[in-house]
Amino acid sequence: MIAVIGAGVVGTLIARELIKYEKDVAIFDEKSGPGRMVSKANSGIIHGGYDDTPNTLRAKLSYKGNKMYDELSKDLSFDLKRCGSHVVAFEEEDLEYINSLVEKAIKNGVEEYQIIKGETLKKMEPKVNEDIIASFYCPIAGIVNPWMVAHQAARNVEMNGGKLYFNKKLIDVEMNDKRYLLKFEDDFEFEADIVINAAGLYADEIAKLFGDEVPKIYPVKGEYYLTKPEFKYVNSIIFPIPNKISKGCLVVPVIDGGFLIGPNAQEIRDKKDFSNTNEGLSEIREKGLKLVPEINYRQDSVKTFAGLRPETAEKDFYIGKGEGNVVHVSGIRSPGLTAAPAIAQYVVDEIIKKEMNTKFLKRQDFNPKVDSFRVFNEEDIDLWNERIENDPEAGELVCFCNKVSKKDIKAAIKKGAKTLEDIKFLTGASFGECQGSYCSSKIVKILAEELNKKPEDIVMNEKGTWIIDSEVRL
Ligand SMILES: Cc1cc2nc3c(=O)[nH]c(=O)nc-3n(C[C@H](O)[C@H](O)[C@H](O)COP(=O)(O)OP(=O)(O)OC[C@H]3O[C@@H](n4cnc5c(N)ncnc54)[C@H](O)[C@@H]3O)c2cc1C
Repeated sequence: MIAVIGAGVVGTLIARELIKYEKDVAIFDEKSGPGRMVSKANSGIIHGGYDDTPNTLRAKLSYKGNKMYDELSKDLSFDLKRCGSHVVAFEEEDLEYINSLVEKAIKNGVEEYQIIKGETLKKMEPKVNEDIIASFYCPIAGIVNPWMVAHQAARNVEMNGGKLYFNKKLIDVEMNDKRYLLKFEDDFEFEADIVINAAGLYADEIAKLFGDEVPKIYPVKGEYYLTKPEFKYVNSIIFPIPNKISKGCLVVPVIDGGFLIGPNAQEIRDKKDFSNTNEGLSEIREKGLKLVPEINYRQDSVKTFAGLRPETAEKDFYIGKGEGNVVHVSGIRSPGLTAAPAIAQYVVDEIIKKEMNTKFLKRQDFNPKVDSFRVFNEEDIDLWNERIENDPEAGELVCFCNKVSKKDIKAAIKKGAKTLEDIKFLTGASFGECQGSYCSSKIVKILAEELNKKPEDIVMNEKGTWIIDSEVRL
């Protein structure tokens, strides 16, 4: 039995790689579903792999991961848009950085790039700042919905016989006769022969439970603005010249509509500090406007939020075997989403098979495919009508902002959604302009009806996060 701790993009894709073999696999996460920590609050970019420091693990796995996303998105039925990215130069001295990117790209084996100037740049991106003089353009950069990658990978693991355990926080480990006894909160225990620690921000603390030291993780906070889908600024991802800590504040299209503007980079101490700050948001507003002057934050933005990067002093991924049969996959900072499919292969091929010398037999019956989770929110009225004729609930809109119907909500519940957050992440309901003020109560009602529960028992995400605290009429 192989236990994977952490159901982010990294843990779920490692589990999917493992389930391709004749092995029992189980994923554990303290959250209520896949992709609910670092993997939910990031820029969603599949980076081009050109700018990682050559010869690092990041550089080795990022370009490879980028290339793996076409097949992965088809197999796991999530949307991938290769919209391309520009790193933009405002001044002559920025051109030095652009040239250094060419050198790095060559060292990293990346061939897909171009230097774009003048009219060509204006035609590609008419709304960017007129003072931009050139860009390093990478056509293979793309965008995905990051938590959907984790979610679909987890579903695929489950379909192939793997087990998913949510709301399970690992708190202790005992080693008994070469087997691990994993101890979770609420007295839940599980035995495993091999453990993969893919616990994101907490991977350094989990390593300690196994008696191992890995580079200390310190969180680097990144804040964002999310804008409404009706305002279209750019066609591709627009990066500034980066700073020492991060790739800088960028403007990036969101695959489900709208744009993200951010993130900044603040080194903080508290791994639970997801707050937005006045200074942080004003820094983002200013930097976003420098790239795209027409952004009107007051009118265009839907919400602000923050994500935490699991950073280490080494600024590289740490993937290694601990004492015994445990693999620590730690320090998976940006571009961890991009590299995740390649990280998964690396863990299985290089660490488990080679270093641990574990014999693995390929399964003949592995099914790489999983069906789509897209909600039906087409603009075409004839298609809507056709669908409504077959099922009137397809016309009963629960979320007006993102056009999510009762039929879609019920479909999500059939596929395992149990909480308000599950519905939000799977269907997009309550992600829109009103941020759930209209639809949340309606979703609670449907969840209660379908799961045969009282509305008071429906939670936002984890145990104890109730939404209604007494009997109400919905
Ligand atoms: C602001 C920001 C922007 C970024 N932008 C990009 C980008 O555009 N492109 C890109 O490639 N990368 C980007 N990244 C990096 C990327 O998001 C991460 O590298 C990636 O999501 C890490 O995934 P993970 O699975 O390792 O971590 P997580 O998604 O955090 O998964 C770890 C899981 O472990 C669980 N866990 C932790 N402790 C325990 C425990 N004790 N018991 C049980 N479960 C536990 C957590 O609940 C969590 O679900 C960005 C990151 C940030 C923060």
